[in-house]
Amino acid sequence: MSKRLYIETVGCQMNVLDSEMVVADLKRHGYELVATPREADTVLFNTCSVREHAEEKIYSALGKLRQAKEHNPDKTIGVMGCMAQKDQKLIFQRAPYVDLIVGPGQLQQIPTLLENIRSGQGRQLAVSLGRKSGSQEVIRRSHETFDPLRDPSMRPTPFQAYLRIQIGCDKFCTYCVVPMTRGPEQGRSPEQILSEARVLADQGCVEITLLGQTVNSYRHTGEDGRVTRMSDLLRQLHEIEGLRRLKFVTNYPKDMTEELLTTIRDLPKVSPYLHVPAQSGSDEQLKRMRRGYTVADYLEMMERIERILPEAAVSSDFIVGFCGETEEDFQQTVDLVRRCRFKNSFIFKYSVRAGTKASERLEDDVPEEVKNRRNNELLAVQDEISAADNQRFVGQTVEILVEGPSRRAQKQADDGPLCQMMGRTLCDRIVVYDGNRRQAGEFLPIEISDATATTLIGRIKTVHSGPELFQLQTV
Ligand code: SAM
Ligand code: SF4
Repeated sequence: MSKRLYIETVGCQMNVLDSEMVVADLKRHGYELVATPREADTVLFNTCSVREHAEEKIYSALGKLRQAKEHNPDKTIGVMGCMAQKDQKLIFQRAPYVDLIVGPGQLQQIPTLLENIRSGQGRQLAVSLGRKSGSQEVIRRSHETFDPLRDPSMRPTPFQAYLRIQIGCDKFCTYCVVPMTRGPEQGRSPEQILSEARVLADQGCVEITLLGQTVNSYRHTGEDGRVTRMSDLLRQLHEIEGLRRLKFVTNYPKDMTEELLTTIRDLPKVSPYLHVPAQSGSDEQLKRMRRGYTVADYLEMMERIERILPEAAVSSDFIVGFCGETEEDFQQTVDLVRRCRFKNSFIFKYSVRAGTKASERLEDDVPEEVKNRRNNELLAVQDEISAADNQRFVGQTVEILVEGPSRRAQKQADDGPLCQMMGRTLCDRIVVYDGNRRQAGEFLPIEISDATATTLIGRIKTVHSGPELFQLQTV
């Protein structure tokens, strides 16, 4: 029987990494990847639960497969990831043609569960324990993802990789479903992380992005009682030969310590790109969100960053229209964005999530049209700042890691060697230039000639032999 797999991934970088792991695992079990659900006999959706919209997209994609399943009952359809953990059997009710439901802590079981389906054992479900369904240790173990089996072909590019250093989250922000879907916060052991990073470097990876929900809160206590923190880990990873860039997302404001910032400053491979979501500029709202800091704390952190790492690029997330948000609260968020001048911000309209404290105790009382307006207004303010900020680079030369053809080039039918290419600076700024597909994976100096709010536009700086003729900006 053929084993043709199609996998679709939505959501965050954690999901991209999980899909990579699952594909690697299934390839070992004889599966091959195909490009469309039609060609596949196993279709997997790796899902996200953070907002309702992400879930609706999956139900609509599942709906499109209903007929295919009627024509070919042997086609296996599976839902994995956060939505599987959150909704569990509900998915079987809403989409009765689904055969498999697997939470993000149980992905290692997928090959066996698929085998069970093939051998006629019917629908399969594997999810982790709820946050109150056992001892802490047992719950924790039920959310541990399996040891990584890396597959370079599933990575965003062969020379870039994600590496999970932290599983789960214990912050319990009142709006957020992640502590339920991904389980308790646990730092992976530094030994595991380092050995995985070495494998990645040996496979030709030059850039690693460390992943965690609050990555800078990373902490691991070894059996001998030795504690490893984020700064220790960065120092150890920095030593790995072949690695040239280390990035990390997402950060928690309270844990952006002086010690961590000095470590970042002192390690040239570590990116001073700091994604530190503020979520709101109103103390009242931060309290309702139970974020654990005030606006003053956040501004203090910004001052610390400015003092220790003046070249850092800081970005943020915001939720607009959260329960009880007044016009004044919202204006305070606008003020914070203006004051902090973020490199960019991801702005989300509040979406009620079952199982969260906010869904139980607070009213989703901001009308949809108000959420829309605030979303657009904040986006416009951020865009203005990003555009002005990017103008600073016009005339400068920046170093980028070339990732591949730009979005524009990907849309064009022409697949000749010359096209618009895209790369990123150490600080995660997107740069496009006219180049050659073969340059993917190279570090190149680009002279910036123009800029929009999202993109720097330039051309390759010709390097003359002899003394350095230009100053590369590490931005
Ligand atoms: N762990 C990260 C942190 O604490 O910043 C982010 C996790 S979450 C996957 C990414 C972003 O989604 C959050 O920063 C927040 O802005 C947004 N988000 C989370 N829950 C949301 C909800 N119920 N409605 C709208 N946006 C939400
Ligand atoms: Fe969600 Fe808050 Fe944890 Fe981020 S820190 S994953 S927003 S609970």
